[in-house]
Amino acid sequence: MITLALSKGRIFDETLPLLAAAGIEVLEDPEKSRKLILPTNQPGVRVVLVRATDVPTYVEYGGADLGVTGKDTLIEHGGQGLYQPLDLQIAKCRMSVAVRNDFDYASAVRQGSRLKVATKYTAIAREFFASKGVHVDLIKLYGSMELAPLTGLADAIVDLVSTGNTLKANQLVEVERIMDISSRLVVNQAALKLKQAAIRPILDAFSNAIESNAVSS
Ligand code: AMP
Repeated sequence: MITLALSKGRIFDETLPLLAAAGIEVLEDPEKSRKLILPTNQPGVRVVLVRATDVPTYVEYGGADLGVTGKDTLIEHGGQGLYQPLDLQIAKCRMSVAVRNDFDYASAVRQGSRLKVATKYTAIAREFFASKGVHVDLIKLYGSMELAPLTGLADAIVDLVSTGNTLKANQLVEVERIMDISSRLVVNQAALKLKQAAIRPILDAFSNAIESNAVSS
């Protein structure tokens, strides 16, 4: 049995066409079912639904053989024990720094001010501000980062931005792009060796589908 860990939402939706290219069809809709283990049309393949931040942990410890997870989540997790063969080019967005539109970020940085930065992505934020030589106090949050500058909890946030609509709706502006983000396939290293015959064809089909998407887009 091959177990693939996915998170509900964008990653699940955008992984479906890749699975279809590998001849795998998920037989239940996670938005309609309460089941956490979803069967597929292939008796030897199942999908487990886990929180996005738990995907690397499931795959690292063998709770799943494969998983799909954002580069952001992988960096925060550390990626230890995971084979990362493919950038799937899905769930694309960027990791950025944003502030209130009346906050002068450039002068604060120029003057060497100590910034309060709220984020779920503390490893990425720490590394980014250290590389710029900016002193920061990091405030760990688990969601609704946009609220932090509006309530005075922080001067800036580090968060994922896709269309920019969420920032705009909350009077925030993007002042730095830290990195582009997309989702990766991660594979348990022992499973890759022991279940090679079942996993290889999936990797190959994903890889071909990504290539033909790149050609057609
Ligand atoms: P947007 O309004 O389109 O810029 O989306 C921003 C909101 O969606 C923020 O709350 C982000 O944390 C979240 N978001 C955007 N892209 C992603 C992604 N690829 N994965 C997870 N969350 C995302």
